[in-house]
Amino acid sequence: MRSNSTPMLYRILAQTETIDIEAKTSRAMTERDAIEAAKKHVLHPETVAAGGYRPFVIRPMGTEHQWKYGHINYCPRCGTYIGDEMGDPEDEIANDDQEFECPECYAHVYVNIFRTPEEADEDD
Ligand SMILES: [Zn+2]
Repeated sequence: MRSNSTPMLYRILAQTETIDIEAKTSRAMTERDAIEAAKKHVLHPETVAAGGYRPFVIRPMGTEHQWKYGHINYCPRCGTYIGDEMGDPEDEIANDDQEFECPECYAHVYVNIFRTPEEADEDD
C-alpha cells in the first residue's frame, strides 16, 4: 500500500464563490509538500485570510441521465473532466463508448462503460 510520503504528482483544487482554481505539481512530491506548495503558490494569502476558499471542492459528474447511462465524465489517465467534450449535457445523450485523445494529457484512449447499477436496477 502506498503511504502519503511516497512522492507523487498531485492535482490541487480550490474554489471561491467566483472562481475555480486547478493546478498540478510539476514534479513528484510528498502529500505534505504538495499542501505546502498549494499554500505558497496557488492560494492567494488575502483570500485565505478572508476565509474566501470553500473548505471543500465540487467536481461535476454529469446530468442524472448521463450518470445513469454511463456517460464518460473523466479521462481515465489524468482525471480531467471531459464530460462536456463527450457530449452536450443539454442533449441528454449519454456517450458510454468512445475512442478519443484527452484534451489535457493527450493520451489516446478507448473507454467503454458497459453497464451501471442504475441501469441494471431499471431492468430488474
Ligand atoms: Zn487525460
